[in-house]
Formats: sequence, C-alpha cells, structure tokens
Amino acid sequence: MRTVNAYAATSATEPLVKTTIERRDVGPKDVQIEITYAGICHSDIHTVRGEWGDIAYPQVVGHEIVGHVSAVGSDVSKHSVGDLVGVGCMVNSCRECEQCLAGQEQYCLKGNIGTYTGVDPADGTITQGGYSEAVVVDEDFVLKVPESLDQAAVAPLLCAGITTYSPLHHWNAGPGTKLAVVGMGGLGHMAVKIAHAMGAEVTVLSQTLSKQEDGLRLGADHYYATSDESTFTDLAGSFDLIINTVSAKVDMSAYLGLLAVDGTMVNVGAPSEPLAVPAFALIPARRSWAGSAIGGIRETQEMLDFCAEHGIVPETELISADQINEAYERVLKSDVRYRFVIDAATLA
Ligand code: NAP
Ligand code: ZN
Ligand code: ZN
Repeated sequence: MRTVNAYAATSATEPLVKTTIERRDVGPKDVQIEITYAGICHSDIHTVRGEWGDIAYPQVVGHEIVGHVSAVGSDVSKHSVGDLVGVGCMVNSCRECEQCLAGQEQYCLKGNIGTYTGVDPADGTITQGGYSEAVVVDEDFVLKVPESLDQAAVAPLLCAGITTYSPLHHWNAGPGTKLAVVGMGGLGHMAVKIAHAMGAEVTVLSQTLSKQEDGLRLGADHYYATSDESTFTDLAGSFDLIINTVSAKVDMSAYLGLLAVDGTMVNVGAPSEPLAVPAFALIPARRSWAGSAIGGIRETQEMLDFCAEHGIVPETELISADQINEAYERVLKSDVRYRFVIDAATLA
C-alpha cells in the first residue's frame, strides 16, 4: 500500500479538505498512474453533496484523470512505464455480460465499477477518485492519451468528451443533422466542439447570451437564450437531435417542442429531481426522449483519437487543489469556462 495526498469530502455539507488515502499495491494486471491533472465534473458535486443518494465519507471524487504510468504489473501488456494515460468514470466491470462483451461496459448488466464510490473487486474497498496524486487501475480501464493534445487541457475528455461523443455518434450526428445543445457548461461546450467536427449544424440553447461569442468561436452555428420566450416559438419543431446537458430541472415540455417529427432528445444532464414529461410533448410528432451514460472503453479510445485528429481539447481553467471549493461554487452558478482542471502537483 502507498499513501498519497488527496482532497476529500467529509460530509454532504462541508467543504472538501486535504487528506491522505491509501492506494493498493500494483497487482499483476494493474497500472499505477502518477496523476498530473484531474477535471471537475458536475457529477462530482452531485455525488459529494448526496444529491444522487447517500455515500460513505470521506470520499475523494474526480473521474477525468490524466497522468503518467509509473509502474505496471507482471501481466500488463497494453501500457508501459512513462506512457501518458487517462482514466474516466469506470475502473472495472463484470467483463462477461452481453454489454461488456459488446464493449459497452458503462451498461454492464451487473453495474460498472465507478472510479469513485464503487466497490473495488480488487480489494473490496470503496473506490477513490482523481483529486489525488496517484491511482492504481486495471489496465483494461486505462486509456491511451494522445501526446499531441495539450496535457493540461485533455483530462475532461475522459468524461465530458465521451459523454457527448457517445450519443452524437449513436444518433448519427453529421452533415445535415440539425442539432441543439442545451447548456454551455463542461459537457455542453464539448458537445459543440465534437458535433461541429462531425459536421452537424449546431445551435446552442443557453440561459443567456453571455457566452454567445465563445459558443460561436467553438463551432456553434447559432446561439439562443432560453430566458427569451420567443426562442421556443421561433425554433419550434426545428431539431433532429437535442443533447440536454442541464444539471437542474427544466421545463421538458418546452424543450421537447423544439424537436422535429421523429426527433430525439437525449438527456445526459442528471438532475436529482425528476423531470416531468407530458405524453403530448412526444405523441403528436413521434418524438423520443432518451438517456445516455458516458461511453464504453473502446469508444472512449475512439473519441480520444477523434479529438487528436481534429485538434479538439476542452476549454479549461487550471486551478490549484486549494481552489476546489471555490470552483464548485462557480460551477453551481454556471460560471465555468468551461471546465476546471486541478493541477495535481499542487497536492504535494
Ligand atoms: P456544468 O458545467 O455545470 O454545465 C451545466 C450547464 O447547464 C450550465 O453551464 C448551464 O448552462 C446549464 N444550467 C445549469 N443550471 C440550469 C438551470 N437551472 N436552468 C437551465 N440551465 C441550467 O455541468 P457538467 O459537468 O457539464 O454536467 C452537466 C450534467 O451532466 C450534470 O447533471 C452531470 O451530473 C451530468 N453528467 C452526466 C453524465 C452521463 O454519463 N450521463 C456524465 C457527466 C455528467 P448555461 O449557462 O449555458 O445555461
Ligand atoms: Zn463526469
Ligand atoms: Zn458486464
């Protein structure tokens, strides 16, 4: 076992604090990673505040992890010491079920093992996430991070990137697709960049026009404020696909009305409160309302390679570990441009 510095939540209501955690010895199939950067996802905040259910404290979160391999087990064949690698939201799954065999470990029928709050099959402990100096992960859940991308900015691809890439890919976003992205935060701004690179016509629906210039620069073709009621009448029936990244409860009826006949709204945003969907927001135009979770390991590697090919990295603000609590407050105020990344060197 090895003791490493980390930032942990100690309750649902108190600020995160500096602490230490134990990382297991490197097993035969394990990769030990010295973390360089870790992104802050809104899911981290939902989790530590108990909004998705009770958790055990102390808990270290963070599932957008980048770093260098510092040790490998005797049976590791995919990664070598010195490699630049990443870890996303999962660190294991059953590997036997239909979904795992199809490369969709995120939908493992026995439940995937989360990078945090999961029960680690290696030692039965609760998994602890990326706001830490190092992590030990089974090689099959470690991704190769392209060296051509800016290392300080690349971490959020491991969650925000794959969570938007996967539904865009699954619902065939491309030339001719009229796509709307709801919410210009961490996930939303990645949806804009990736969908633009895929060739879709991208519209951002944000609460205000305060980020319009950025949205257009990142690849959006159109930008509207949802605080302006005319947005919902002007754009009624317009979109083939909507990616909803909003972390809070919104009026689903209004947004579903923006879908064309046969259009699909995909919820990646995961508010704690239930979203009400009137049947008549769907029926008259054969609309669908779907959900989507991150992406499989193979697909995550495909997304990283796609981003390298298109030169896509998240827009990030680098912070030190002692700024995590302040960053949380800014995320909650939609004042993130567009992902906070922790410089793990500041945990020392
Ligand atoms: P984020 O950076 O906070 O972005 C969310 C955006 O939603 C905000 O920037 C804001 O955009 C908009 N928004 C927030 N509150 C709103 C409100 N009351 N009404 C309307 N719009 C509002 O969060 P994120 O990290 O992108 O995560 C977004 C959500 O996705 C979270 O719920 C997170 O847990 C979830 N998530 C799901 C998955 C998955 O696998 N499905 C993976 C990662 C994250 P504007 O300022 O532009 O309005
Ligand atoms: Zn996330
Ligand atoms: Zn499985």
